[in-house]
Amino acid sequence: MYPVMLAVHKQRCLLVGGGGIALRKLNGLMAHGAKVTVVAPEPIPSIEHLAKENQIDLVRRPYTKGEAADYALVIAATDDRDVNRQVYEDAEGAGVWVNVVDDPPLCTFHLPARVQRGNLQIAIASEGVAPFAVRRLRKLFEVHFGHAWSEWMESAARFRRKIRGMNLTRVEEEARYDAFFDNTVDAVSFKARVPTDEEEQAYLTTDGAPMESPSEETATDQMDSPETGLVSLVGAGPGDPGLLTIRGQRRLAAADAVVYDRLAATSLPCDLAERVELHCVGKQAGEHPVPQEKINDMLVQLAREGKRVVRLKGGDPYVFGRGSEEAEALSAAGLAFEVVPGVTSAVAVPAYAGIPITHRREAVRATMVTAHEAIKSDGPQVRWDLMAGDPHASLCGYMGVTSLPSVVEKLLKGGLDPETPAAMISRGTTSAQHVVRASIADLPRAVIDADLAPPALFIIGPTVRHADRLNWFGDSLLHGQRLVMVSPAGSLADTLEQNGAEIVAVPLPVTPASRVVMGALPLTGCVFYNSEEVDALDEEREGLGWDHDMVAWCLSPEAANRARSLGWRNVTELLPSNSAIDVVKTIYASYGNRK
Ligand code: SAH
Repeated sequence: MYPVMLAVHKQRCLLVGGGGIALRKLNGLMAHGAKVTVVAPEPIPSIEHLAKENQIDLVRRPYTKGEAADYALVIAATDDRDVNRQVYEDAEGAGVWVNVVDDPPLCTFHLPARVQRGNLQIAIASEGVAPFAVRRLRKLFEVHFGHAWSEWMESAARFRRKIRGMNLTRVEEEARYDAFFDNTVDAVSFKARVPTDEEEQAYLTTDGAPMESPSEETATDQMDSPETGLVSLVGAGPGDPGLLTIRGQRRLAAADAVVYDRLAATSLPCDLAERVELHCVGKQAGEHPVPQEKINDMLVQLAREGKRVVRLKGGDPYVFGRGSEEAEALSAAGLAFEVVPGVTSAVAVPAYAGIPITHRREAVRATMVTAHEAIKSDGPQVRWDLMAGDPHASLCGYMGVTSLPSVVEKLLKGGLDPETPAAMISRGTTSAQHVVRASIADLPRAVIDADLAPPALFIIGPTVRHADRLNWFGDSLLHGQRLVMVSPAGSLADTLEQNGAEIVAVPLPVTPASRVVMGALPLTGCVFYNSEEVDALDEEREGLGWDHDMVAWCLSPEAANRARSLGWRNVTELLPSNSAIDVVKTIYASYGNRK
């Protein structure tokens, strides 16, 4: 077999067969821009879907003798040997390249296993003699060639263009290519990194003498690679960024694209690399949310491009989050996905409000329900009457702000004691957490009086009484303070957090992800060590809509002067000799607990 890379872009290709294997081949052809006709009497729904969207031509009938001759390339993936053989004979007779899946004698070309990193393609094949070895090798390469290679490839292409414009001799060119390659690729570990501008400049002008090799740390930093083309449905937890799981963090750190809901925005890591595509698909004020269908399509598309995609969703992806619909869409498209569960709000939000959702002898059952069902026109699926009859239980209602009056009416009608304690908690686990407690009969009024807005969750049941004693989060000194710190190091950030403040740790230069995080909830101030930090965040002020009243807590006179000179009106200078706990006290003395 002679290895080649085919340009199938806009070429007419025929795929015979309409099952799961055909779909996988179809994904490959489409990803490279082929114009594909699928011939199949009963194609699976995902193929039908592609046809409906005019992405392919679908011919719903069996293969007819001779038709393979009209195409540039043909793949047969049916389970009928006679059909496969016919396709092979037609194509071969007409000089058309043909591949019958899993039948090497009926192939004039093979499809290698491959690993793709941007423009870098590594193809692996065994002439059909040991496919098992190919599959395992591919996995190895997947792990060893991290995403850094696709960026590296781009920088290599840029470098080549520059060299080409320099009018050098062949020998001089090769010396510069060597400098680029040897300094950015670790020949033992196969790690690659993009050179800095200064390094690149040095390679462009090198005289061929050896250079210092890249530090191992940098190369390793850029190399973290699970599989490609994988969609991870990750639960971000209810809002407190500390409640994102370790696996969720790992997937985010290795992602090429993150598709996130607004509810999950506070949990995006601020240090997410600039190269990571960020797609917000949640409801924005004044805008409509992206329809679920579109989100599904976006995930499929990104995965088809071979990207590692994180679909970041509030709470747990499968709890009233439509995560399972996304998983169904990925499964139907034959794409790899996984679920990284998250802390669901019905468990965490009451806990932060001092309410355990179960308690021995008080609540021996906890129900999670979508309260929205109570006001739907297509008939109630929820048996409110049954829940009303169970006093030893907690009822946690998602999406219940508008429907609360209707829920309460149904529960009271079902016989629930009107004195049953209840709470509605908005933006739980965050600096904006707001808790309203009342008896169930009074809760709807109390929620309106407090002007409570979604996202909010209600909990009804005897355990709500514990909040009198267990309100550990809302009562902490600095609860409600959401402070920006630039790359916080040392104990100050820890102490502030331990006292209930939420710290948004922003790296410099400011990343796109940290802009999303800063804008996800109101901020109360910034803590600055020096004027460089003041400058960096002052530049963000307009984009983030901060007014001049944003507090600047300055830990040096230099920072305070710079903030004042840039027009910050609310500047408080903290002595460098202040201990972390003094800082906490100063902030508390000025602003108190903002609950
Ligand atoms: N998958 C999510 C729920 C999505 S439905 C989860 O597992 O938590 C959206 C609803 O979740 C909101 O209407 C609200 O009822 C609840 N919710 C999510 N985050 C919340 C928070 N921080 N505080 C209060 N309720 C929250």
